Formats: sequence, structure tokens, C-alpha cells
Amino acid sequence: MTQRLILASNNAGKLKEFAQLLAPIGFELHPQGEFGVPEADEPFATFVENALAKARHASRLTGLPALADDSGVCVNALGGAPGVYSARYAGEPKSDARNSEKLVADLAAHADKSAYYYCVLVYVRHADDPQPVIADGQWHGEIIDTPRGTNGFGYDPHFLIPALGKTTAELEPGVKNAHSHRGQALRALVEKLA
Ligand code: IMP
Repeated sequence: MTQRLILASNNAGKLKEFAQLLAPIGFELHPQGEFGVPEADEPFATFVENALAKARHASRLTGLPALADDSGVCVNALGGAPGVYSARYAGEPKSDARNSEKLVADLAAHADKSAYYYCVLVYVRHADDPQPVIADGQWHGEIIDTPRGTNGFGYDPHFLIPALGKTTAELEPGVKNAHSHRGQALRALVEKLA
């Protein structure tokens, strides 16, 4: 028997990536937009609180179990910034190009360019689930000044994985998913759910 599960996002890339790993363990994933669920606010200072709020919101409005993610890039020399504020680091309207420019500028005076992508996933069986299932992943790299590559999104052209000799924008999507913070979190969540 399959169990319907709402994804608290309308991102087609995430839907496809998540559905691939969740289908084999019996989940049929639906984007929240299919049920007319508007985007939830993300007012919190931690990834896990934002993901939990998004999952509860989607579950409350659909009456179904829900899955939400929250992610960002954390730069060590900047005390973990932009972190939960990654999407809007350079302000509104949100722009990947301006965010990356600001990050490179903020890091200019620092020798330590190390950073990591972080992703947390939260699954709730129902809106008031007292035991949400939580999994996370980290992917370490460093920020480079000159962008490289055209795949991916966000900070990818500036995020170098030294072990691979490539930025995350130079990786094929399958390779990125195999290594990424989101891929790691998803595999950990699938293990917990299965
Ligand atoms: P969200 O959790 O999908 O809203 O992502 C938050 C923000 O973090 C994005 O807008 C990007 O700026 C950044 N981010 C998260 N994951 C990635 C990634 O895999 N590549 C590049 N940027 C990312």
C-alpha cells in the first residue's frame, strides 16, 4: 500500500529527487501546491524550526503526513552566516547572483574560506505530531571568488569541493545528489522511515 505524503515545497527538482528515494519505501509524494497550500513563513533562527513549521503547516492544511526541508550555506569565518538567511542574504528581491557577490565581498578580508552546505529534513505524521522524524546532512567545501560552472543554483558556482576539484555547479545533477547535504539528509531520513 502506498502512503500519500505532502512535500512542503513546489520545487520540481526537489520533488523528483525526493520521490525517487521515497517511492521504493511506499510513499507517494505530492507538492503542497497541488493541494492549494500557500508557502509557510520561515521566521526562525534555526533550520530545524523552519522546516518543522513548514511541515506542520502543510500537514495541517491537507490532513496528510508532510515532509519539509530547510537548507543554506554556513561560512566558518563569518560565524556560520548566511546560514538560515542564505536565500535572502543580499536582501529583497532574492537574487542568487547578488547573494554570491555579497558573500565573496564579505569574505575578502578572511583567509579562511571554508564553508559547508547544511540541510535538515523534517517528517510529520500529522500536524501536531509530538515526535517528528528529523534527519540532516552537511557538505564541506570552500568559497571561491570566481564563479565556475552552470549547473545547480544558489551559491553553487562559488562552492568548491577540493576533493573533487570542482565547484558544485560543475557537477552533473546525479553526482551532486550522491554527495550533497540534501542527498545525505534524504538517505538518512529514508533509513529512519523504512
Ligand atoms: P531552501 O532551503 O531551498 O530555501 O534554500 C535556501 C538557500 O540556501 C537557497 O536559496 C540557496 O541560496 C542556499 N542553498 C541551499 N542548498 C543549496 C545548494 O545545493 N546549492 C546552492 N545553494 C544552496
